[in-house]
Amino acid sequence: MIKIAIANQKGGVGKTTTAINIATALAATGWKTLLIDLDPQGNASTGIGIGSAERERSSYDLLVDEAALADCILPTRIPDLDIVPATVDLSGAEVELVGVEHRTDRLRHALAQDSGHDVCFIDCPPSLGLLTLNALAAADTLLVPLQCEFFALEGLSQLLQTVERVQQRFNPALGIIGVALTMYDRRNRLTDQVADDVRACLGQLVFESVIPRNVRLSEAPSHGLPALVYDYNCTGSRAYMALARELIGRMPERRKAA
Ligand code: ADP
Ligand code: MG
Repeated sequence: MIKIAIANQKGGVGKTTTAINIATALAATGWKTLLIDLDPQGNASTGIGIGSAERERSSYDLLVDEAALADCILPTRIPDLDIVPATVDLSGAEVELVGVEHRTDRLRHALAQDSGHDVCFIDCPPSLGLLTLNALAAADTLLVPLQCEFFALEGLSQLLQTVERVQQRFNPALGIIGVALTMYDRRNRLTDQVADDVRACLGQLVFESVIPRNVRLSEAPSHGLPALVYDYNCTGSRAYMALARELIGRMPERRKAA
C-alpha cells in the first residue's frame, strides 16, 4: 500500500477537497483506496457522506486506543473507497499522547496492519502538531496543496523544514510526490504571479494540473459527495481527474498490498 499524506499547516488551502477527490479518482481507476481522516473537524468524513452517528470507531481509536485498523474502516458509497473517519475526540489526542512512548509511530503501526488496499491518503489537520507528525511518519510521500496567495511560499518553507526533521528522526524515506496549486483564479493577476514564483522555486515538484476556484467543488461536500460524483464534468472535477492521472504517473511501481 502506498501511503500519501496530504498536508499543509495552513487551513483552507484545499487539503480535504484534494484528499476526497483524488481518493475518489483513484478508486474510480480501480485502485483499492483508503482515506484516513486525521482532522478533528472530520470534514473528509462528512464530505464523503459519513454522518457522525456512523463514526463508531475513528482515527482517534486508532491512535489513542490502538484499536485494530480493520475495526475502524468503513466502506463509503463510492466503490473501492473506504474511510477511517474522524470525530472531535481526535482534538484531544495531541494531549492524551503527550508522554506516551513512540507517540509519533501510532499511525504507522496501525497502517502496517492493512491488507487489501493499494493506496492510502491521509487528510491532515491544519497544524504541524502530533497528528500531522503521525501522518508524516507513516507516509511514503507527501502531497502538498498550495493556495496561490501571497504568503504561500513562506508557509511552504516551514512545512519543508518539518519534513526534513521527520526524515532525520522518524522516516528517512519520506518523499514529496508533488505540490498541487489550488483555488487558482485565472482573472486574478496575483494568483498568476504566485503560481509563477512557486514554479520558479520548486520546478518539477509542482504538478502541471492546476485546480481552479470552482463553486461546484465547494458545494459538493454539503451533499456528502465528492465533486467527482456530484458533478463529474465541472471544471473542478476535470482538474482533479487530470491531477490524479499525473499523480499516478509519479507513483512508484504499483505495489499491491501483501
Ligand atoms: P483544508 O482542508 O486545507 O482546510 P478545504 O479543502 O476544506 O481546505 O477547503 C476550504 C474551503 O474551500 C472549503 O469550504 C472548500 O469547499 C472550499 N474549496 C476548496 N477547494 C476549492 C476550489 N478549488 N474552489 C472553490 N472552493 C474550494
Ligand atoms: Mg481539511
